Amino acid sequence: MNIGIVGLGLIGGCLGLDLRAQGLSVFGVGRREDTCLRAMELGVVDTASVDLALMSQADLIFVCTPLGAIRSTVAQMIPHLKPDAIVTDVGSVKASVVESVSPLWPHFVAGHPMAGKAESGIEVAERGLFVDKPYVITPTEHTSAAAVEQVANVARLLQARIYQCGPEEHDRAVAWISHLPVMISSSLIGSCLSEPDHHVLQLAQNLASTGFKDTSRVGGGNPELGLMMATYNRDELLRSLLVYRGQLDRVIGYIEDKNWQDLELFLQQNSAERPKFL
Ligand code: NAP
Repeated sequence: MNIGIVGLGLIGGCLGLDLRAQGLSVFGVGRREDTCLRAMELGVVDTASVDLALMSQADLIFVCTPLGAIRSTVAQMIPHLKPDAIVTDVGSVKASVVESVSPLWPHFVAGHPMAGKAESGIEVAERGLFVDKPYVITPTEHTSAAAVEQVANVARLLQARIYQCGPEEHDRAVAWISHLPVMISSSLIGSCLSEPDHHVLQLAQNLASTGFKDTSRVGGGNPELGLMMATYNRDELLRSLLVYRGQLDRVIGYIEDKNWQDLELFLQQNSAERPKFL
């Protein structure tokens, strides 16, 4: 099977490295000549081009562009595809992608490998990023089971843990555990920066250690991704943010009222539930 990758950045690069290591031939399309050259130098692809016609070689194509470019990329690619080529994407939000891309190509299977890094671009691509990480496939009632199986088979080569769910369920779930944390983490950094005493702020920056490193990590990631999450998963993200604000208000209320008993219960209950998420 020949693999196509359109969008030679972090995720496209990581897919290429792993799938080539599995003996598959990988054809890549990038936006710029220098990215294509670099992809070949790094061993991410066997061949790369800025011309989508290269996708005529591929049996299964991963669209790894930013969310906003997935639909137009698929539309431009269609004239070049083999009639039975399977197209999948890796976008972090699924309902809008499924709605806009499914009508374009009969063998489209939406997917989301849930692994990432703080940095973006092909230079930071590495092998094994998807090992033991969730790979969510979000078929609809119209998606062919055989095409889903092909995407799942490739995800298995990446040693990912495969899940299937509806696109809307996916978006609601990832709002809680991926998109909400980005906004909270960024707000945490913003809150610290609002300290008016420069000396205290500097002290806090010097004292910040593992706790701050853990809680601020996703807020320190690629801002473009956070913006995409908010743009394309707006309703679910807003819903989760409002619930979060309610939780903060509860905590504030406990502390204002010196209600240490309920605060302790709140902390105990949430601490006990955490392992279920990890
Ligand atoms: P990235 O490193 O910035 O790579 C994106 C790639 O797409 C770059 O090669 C870029 O080309 C290319 N590109 C940008 N705009 C384009 C356009 N208008 N048309 C065609 N190609 C374009 O980003 P990434 O982190 O790999 O993210 C790619 C996809 O993976 C996104 O849909 C994202 O939702 C999804 N995803 C990301 C993560 C994560 O944590 N990073 C995790 C799971 C899924 P240049 O090299 O020329 O800039």
